[in-house]
Amino acid sequence: MTSRQRKLTLSLAAACALVLPLTLIFAQAHAPGKELHGIAVANMDVSVQPGDDFYQYANGAWIKRTEIPPDRAGMGVFTELSDLTEKRTAAIIEEAAKSKSPSNRQIAGLYNSFMDEAGIEAKGLAPLKPHLEAIAAIHDKHELARALGETLRADVDALNNTNFHTANLFGLWVAPGFNDSEHYAAYLLQGGIELPDREYYLADSPHMRELREKYQAHVAAMLKLTGFTDADARAKRIFELEHAIAEKHTSLAENDDIHKANNTWKQADFSAKAPGLDWTEYFRGAGLAQQAEFTVWQPTAFVAESALVESVPLETWKDWLAYHLIEDFGNVLPKSLADEDFAFFGTTLTGVAQRRPRWKRGVNLVNDLLGDAVGKIYAERYFPPQAKAQAQAMVANIVAAFRKRIDALDWMDPKTKAEAKAKLGTLYVGIGYPEHWHDYSGFEVKPDDIFGNIWRDGLFEYHRNVARLGKQVDRQEWSMSPQTVNAVNLPLQNALNFPAAILQPPFFDPKAPAAVNYGAIGAVIGHEISHTFDSEGSAFDAQGRVRNWWTDADMEHFNKATAALVAQYDTYKPFPDLSLNGKQTLAENIADVAGIAAAYDGYRASLAGKPAPAQQGFSGDQQFFLAFAQDWGSKIREAAVRRQVMTDGHSPGRYRASTVRNIDAWYAAFNVKPGQKLYLAPAERVRIW
Ligand SMILES: [Zn+2]
Repeated sequence: MTSRQRKLTLSLAAACALVLPLTLIFAQAHAPGKELHGIAVANMDVSVQPGDDFYQYANGAWIKRTEIPPDRAGMGVFTELSDLTEKRTAAIIEEAAKSKSPSNRQIAGLYNSFMDEAGIEAKGLAPLKPHLEAIAAIHDKHELARALGETLRADVDALNNTNFHTANLFGLWVAPGFNDSEHYAAYLLQGGIELPDREYYLADSPHMRELREKYQAHVAAMLKLTGFTDADARAKRIFELEHAIAEKHTSLAENDDIHKANNTWKQADFSAKAPGLDWTEYFRGAGLAQQAEFTVWQPTAFVAESALVESVPLETWKDWLAYHLIEDFGNVLPKSLADEDFAFFGTTLTGVAQRRPRWKRGVNLVNDLLGDAVGKIYAERYFPPQAKAQAQAMVANIVAAFRKRIDALDWMDPKTKAEAKAKLGTLYVGIGYPEHWHDYSGFEVKPDDIFGNIWRDGLFEYHRNVARLGKQVDRQEWSMSPQTVNAVNLPLQNALNFPAAILQPPFFDPKAPAAVNYGAIGAVIGHEISHTFDSEGSAFDAQGRVRNWWTDADMEHFNKATAALVAQYDTYKPFPDLSLNGKQTLAENIADVAGIAAAYDGYRASLAGKPAPAQQGFSGDQQFFLAFAQDWGSKIREAAVRRQVMTDGHSPGRYRASTVRNIDAWYAAFNVKPGQKLYLAPAERVRIW
């Protein structure tokens, strides 16, 4: 598992951490008036033996009747939940946009300013003008350094929502310190390129070479549309500069290694360590003259980029600044620029033929910039206190189950067990919505100025983050808004966030039997908890400090215990010519085994000795395992499955559902016998936690 995959990823084309069938949503839609709270029997294919193919047994009918829409790589519950949440959020925003109430002023102003296409057209290039003039007025490399510093924003995130990309020269991430987790520290990350990653500049395939030619033409087109002379020559130089930056960038795989990233540089050291850029001017421009030290995530890139500021001519840097400004605001500039921007970054780069409707983009923008303001209303409307209390009680039972499981481990050193339990003791599990809401009062929104609104938002968020430097860490701070269909693990805070939008059917339904909720969302909660003390979580202690608290002997035992799981997943073949890679998916598979095991214990504990009620002809245990397998029902195009198998840390849904074969109770629940395809003899079932 990489830290990038800590959060559950929505896109079916990328890492499918959770891809579920439509279960209850479909069932309700098809049977109005008869609300169903429980497993989706209509999705099952009972002609299949559960012991032969549990995934098909749980999801077969849904798979058969589901069609993948032509603009999607696949379907699962994530897609459906995202659509539902988007509709609800849009309603909140549109109500606010029509209301005159002062509390909705910011939401309304931001949304209306984005929707005002006529106003954007009428203003033309005027919003860009003062900024382009400031760039044109740069006389020397000292002024350039100052201007580069002024572009620094808090727009990257190395470990939580994991975003390593900024087109500015560098990016700032304010988070608990690696070496002092009690206080917020300043992390600096590489930047400077517009394409998504260094590979786009360096990969030597015909497809990528063609993409680069089109990109350079796009840069020239954007410059022409804003009135630059000699646009082709400027575009060539801009591309060459970005290429030179990309060559020295650290790769995504290396970025995940926190030990390589833990480099403390005093501000006074920058000039000696990375000569070229006038760092004093840079930090002055960034408003960070008083910040004594930084954690420099990719030192080699800082050395190289600083040297490029010295070696590349001033005029090229000024063009680079101008193009980056135009590009970063492209979608809120007049139509000619917005269309050119989409033609390259939408269609050429990601294959999307058509832009999403403007109102949907407006909703996304408001969610991004005012996430908590919308989220507060969303949570009030769709996540009542009793649902939160119910989910919290589940978490408590699952945490208690983990504690017992750690005590019972035979391979872990007693001291290590104490550390693991200490982490459980300080773990913050956020459910539904944050304890405190973000205060946006310092963000000035004008209803007729989308360019200015986005500009001011960037500065507002930047200043909010800079103001936190050196302050006491709030471990309960959230990094996702309540209306996000996702979940996230925040290793430096030893915290998890489960937003309200993922706590909906079929993941979580306050009216469903406990068996179903523990099987569906309980297993996901267990999965995330297990990451806090697995081979990755072992790098951070109970206080979020970077400190490996495992002994070498623990690591050795762990590796031995997990070898059987590697072998189990190596046998899975989605296609005759393609097997899963048990090593590549190991951390996630371990978390799946641990998650379902702890959720099952938590479920049994929740019954407090009483028998589990049967529903729709299924026992409590059967409902638990079916709800879990229905989490993973999905229909995905072959190309997308192949890409996932080759590049992702998560196994495809079918094999995640098969995790049940490692759990004894599953055999009893479905009377699974030797000779059936999923049957494992008791000694072959893998138990790690
Ligand atoms: Zn995971």
